[in-house]
Order: sequence, then C-alpha cells, then structure tokens
Amino acid sequence: MNRENNRNFLEGKKYNIITFGCQMNEHDSETIAGMLEEEGCRQVLTKEESDITIINTCSIRENADKRFFGTLGQLKKIKEKNPSYMACVCGCMMQQQHVIDTIHEKYPWVDIIFGTHNIDRFPELLERAYMEQASVMEVLADTSHIAEGLPAKRLYQHKSFVNIMYGCNNFCTYCIVPYTRGREKSRAPEDILQEIETLVRDGVREVTLLGQNVNSYKGEDAEGRRWDFSDLIYRINAIDGLQRIRFMTSHPKDLSDKLIQAYVDCDKLCNYIHLPVQSGSSRVLKRMNRRYDRQRYLDLVQRLRRAVPEITISTDIIVGFPGETEEDFEDTLDLVNQVQYDSAFTFLYSVRKGTPAEKFEDQIPEDVKHARFERLVEAVNEASSKKNAAYVGRIEKVLVEGVSKKNEATLTGRTEGFKLVDFAGSRDLIGQMVDVEITEGKTFSLSGKIVEK
Ligand code: SF4
Repeated sequence: MNRENNRNFLEGKKYNIITFGCQMNEHDSETIAGMLEEEGCRQVLTKEESDITIINTCSIRENADKRFFGTLGQLKKIKEKNPSYMACVCGCMMQQQHVIDTIHEKYPWVDIIFGTHNIDRFPELLERAYMEQASVMEVLADTSHIAEGLPAKRLYQHKSFVNIMYGCNNFCTYCIVPYTRGREKSRAPEDILQEIETLVRDGVREVTLLGQNVNSYKGEDAEGRRWDFSDLIYRINAIDGLQRIRFMTSHPKDLSDKLIQAYVDCDKLCNYIHLPVQSGSSRVLKRMNRRYDRQRYLDLVQRLRRAVPEITISTDIIVGFPGETEEDFEDTLDLVNQVQYDSAFTFLYSVRKGTPAEKFEDQIPEDVKHARFERLVEAVNEASSKKNAAYVGRIEKVLVEGVSKKNEATLTGRTEGFKLVDFAGSRDLIGQMVDVEITEGKTFSLSGKIVEK
C-alpha cells in the first residue's frame, strides 16, 4: 500500500487512548499518540467524542484483564451509534491466543487488534481498516526488530520515559511478561543517547530509563562493543542540560557493585531504587524462580545503604503465592520491618494463564490471602509513615510536575528520592527545580513550602 497517497484517511480524526498497566504501556501509548498526531489526528479526552479508541492492555494481573473486557464492552454502544468509529485493542493481552479467541467470539465488532511487537505498524493498519472497511489483525510472535525514531506525544514536557530494552528472560513462575513481551532485546547505546539528547534539547530535565530488567541491559554499539547498564548510566550522566536520571525496574539478582558505585559517582542518578523483593521467604522465592534468596536481598539493601545512606527504596510484594505458609508470610513481614521501605506496591497473587504457577496445586484460599494482605499493608504503611515523618524540617530539591488534582492553587512534584510533595506556588514553576522545606510527612506523600531565595 502506498501510504503517502492515503494520508487523508486519518487527517482530522479524533482519537483517545485508554492505557492499563505499567510505565512500558504508558510509554507505548505516548508513541501511538505521537504517530497518530503525525498523521494529522487530534487527541480528545473521552471515547464518546472520538473517532478512534485504542485500548492498550496489560496482562500482569487478573484485575487488569477484567477491567479491559468491561471497558471494551462499552465501545459497542459507541460503534452502534457511529458505524465508522474504530475500536482498536493492543498491548500484552493481545499476545495471548485465548484473549484473541475471546475477542473473536464475544466482541467480533472490534476493528483492529495488534500486539506488543508492532506498534510502529498501527497507522498503516488503521488506514487499511478504513480503506477495506474490514477488521484487521496483526499480532507478531517475538521478533528481534526494534523500531527506532518513532515520534511520541509526551505526557509531561519536562520529564520523559526512555525505553532502553524490551522483553524479559527471567521467567518468574507467576509472570506472563516473557510470553507477551518476548525475550530481552537491548537498544543500541547510540540510539538511546541520541534520543535523550534530543529530549533535553526539547526541555526534558529528567529521564526514566525503562526495561523489565534494566540491570541486564546489554547494548551493542557501532564498534561491536557491549555496554552494560552502568556504562550507559555513566555516559547519560555526562549529557549537558539533563538534571535527573531514574530507572525502572531492577532485578535484585542482577544488581551489580558497579551499578551501586554509579550511584556514588553519577550526580544525576537519583538516590532512589525500586527493587522488587516479591517475598521475604527464601522457599517462596525459589518457587517463584527469582534466583536470589532472602539473605542476598538483605545484603543488597545493606550495600546500597552503605554506599548511599540517603537512598530511598521501594518494592513490589506478592501475597498468597501458591504454597505460601504462615511462616513464609511472617518472613515477608519480618523483611518489610527490617528493610523499612519508603513505599511498597502490594499485590494479591492471581493466577495468570500460561505461567508455571498456574499448575501449582497448593493455591491459597482467598480469605487467607486477603487477611495476610491487610497485615502486610499495615506493616508497609507504618514504615512509610515513619520514613516520611522523618523528612519534616528537611529542604528537598523538587522537580515541579504540575497542579494538584484536588486544589488548583497547589503544585506537586517529586523529590530526588521519588517522594510526592505538594506545596503552594505559581504555575510558572512547572518544569523547574525548586527548594521545598518539608512541613508534614503523611503515609503516601509529603507537604511543604517553597524556600524563597
Ligand atoms: S523479571 Fe520476572 S516479574 Fe519481572 S518481567 Fe521478568 S518474569 Fe516478570
């Protein structure tokens, strides 16, 4: 198809994107938006006022699956009123055959289905659907192809996500990602550096490097030299105009001493790490195929804190993994109490179709899972409140991100340690770094006041 001759199919169309899931998905949605804007489309806020709706799905938890099908069902009414409306679905769930079968069977009016490996093809698929007035499906199995140079419509002007790698080789027994996102593929370092330099020229002050496991980044440069993740951090740290570097997510089994040293040497690398532990029981960690044990994790935390005493640490914890005994769960509580996380994302284990843990017979009853979950949340919140209370009186550098949803006169931003802070100030400060004196530490955030210079 000669796309150049068919541009008018998309020109002037209104679109909206509904995104479920992690930062990877958010960033993919920014790319989809960027591509559509290049084709002359315009973003609107609701599916009801759009000509094209794209639902970008997540398969990590059962809850996201249910929410996806609920949202998808709502598009049918819009399609009935407006037959030219395009209902499009993409993302991790589309990489699972049973999901595709369900869509064909129960939602046959869906116009476009595409997967995680070919989002760069979306405008072309969309044009085809308009031209042929027929449903289009293109879901690729894993591929080594990485599409470079795609546009992105960023959510924020002053900060941006940057993918450094895709996929995962770890096969944690509860996780569907290696099956939906494929095996690890690292971008070439030159492509990453060029993208960040362009972003900085465009006003970006903070980048978050994204990958399922950034610690196993292995990018090959034009001379054939392999860069590891720390090499990349050191080089990004030298980019003029960039002020902050963050990354997400880090697997404890691959966290190297070299990376810990990078925290000491690289002034732009924020003193914050998200280090998912998942369980405090070595027995459960083994069944999860995490390839570290409780002691190795605690040692890592100690090494990080020895090198960077002010580092803030967050984590992910799964409650009720198959076979988790009361003793295993208490090991998790004990680890949470020892580490004293700044924050933790806690999840109830849910079976993911196609993963090894689906076949584990010793699934935990829902009431037991829920009771443990509540105890865990209490322990996690207690630690967060304590940590945040200790910030009162401190002066923190905050990158101003925007206006509070609750109060127009209040700004919000993040400290270097990724703590959310609210404070009074003028909108002109959005995108700038300001000094904020912390006046209150709450469970999930801080409040403060700007320090006048
Ligand atoms: S490291 Fe484990 S939990 Fe994370 S994406 Fe890979 S398989 Fe899933």
